[in-house]
Amino acid sequence: MELYSGYISRLIGELSVLPGIGNKSAQRLAFHIINMPKDRVEALALAMTEARNNIKYCRECFTLTDNEVCPICADKNRDHKQIMVVENIRDMTAYEKTGKYSGVYHVLHGAINPSLGIGPNDIKLPDLLKRLQSIDATEVIIATNSSIEGETTAMYISKLIKPTGIKVTRIASGVPVGGELEYIDEVTLSRALDARVEL
Ligand code: ZN
Repeated sequence: MELYSGYISRLIGELSVLPGIGNKSAQRLAFHIINMPKDRVEALALAMTEARNNIKYCRECFTLTDNEVCPICADKNRDHKQIMVVENIRDMTAYEKTGKYSGVYHVLHGAINPSLGIGPNDIKLPDLLKRLQSIDATEVIIATNSSIEGETTAMYISKLIKPTGIKVTRIASGVPVGGELEYIDEVTLSRALDARVEL
């Protein structure tokens, strides 16, 4: 016997595939949604659909944007020859919040993780190399997480880029081992950037 109506079960099922949402949270959200005013529910559904349909990768840094080029890459006041490589958009946002970085970014959308079968070509790494061929970069700052995957990725990138003569640096410790950038406070992130070391 179904405990809930088919519609509610379906809604719970859809919500429970979201990261961090277990079955209990999905049930709680589902009951919240069916009690919301209809126009709010429609606005929520529309926001999800429109975001999914209209957001694309920035042509240069591969963050998500509404336009061809994101606001950071479109900003003429930033140093377009200094590129900070991050694993994901949340890490980029964390560094932007420090207000201390005036270069641009490159979002990998992941890290090399052999145990999950994620290789260099499964992240936006070939795109970084291609990008470096077309600009005269002065520095590539590798700001991947200090997890095993983040370190593996940093070493891999460094080995690829160093022969080109471009300066390659790695954000300093102060970022705890295994620490995920997005959870680190802005002061620590700024210090890690200031104290970056050349690889
Ligand atoms: Zn961009």
